[in-house]
Amino acid sequence: MEDCIFCKIIAGEIPAEEIYRDDTVVAIADVNPQAPKHALVIPRAHDATIGDMVKRDGEALAGHLVAVATKVGGNFGGSGYRLVVNTGVEGGQTVDHVHVHVLAGRQMTWPPG
Ligand code: 5GP
Ligand code: ZN
Repeated sequence: MEDCIFCKIIAGEIPAEEIYRDDTVVAIADVNPQAPKHALVIPRAHDATIGDMVKRDGEALAGHLVAVATKVGGNFGGSGYRLVVNTGVEGGQTVDHVHVHVLAGRQMTWPPG
């Protein structure tokens, strides 16, 4: 999609540190990390939110997205990790292309901000 920063990264038009890529998802390092390890797992197809994606695609891509995120989190090698999907305005989403944050390398706290 035009003017979508993640679509541009996936197309190779904007550089990013790529961690993983397959036919349907890409994982990159977050440019503004909120933990010592911070990746984004992004479906290659553009949907604004995870809700839109599930409505369009059903459960298959959602399941794969989470499966890849768990692999990335496990590969970070600590004693745990956090998966986050900020969704919509009150959810704190700032890039309107679905992505799962994978955060690790420090003790996480709750509640989140
Ligand atoms: P959101 O706030 O939508 O949940 O998360 C968007 C994330 O995308 C933020 O953590 C932000 O740092 C990251 N981000 C925004 N622009 C870029 C970029 O150009 N490259 C990379 N690697 N990450 C980005
Ligand atoms: Zn996009």
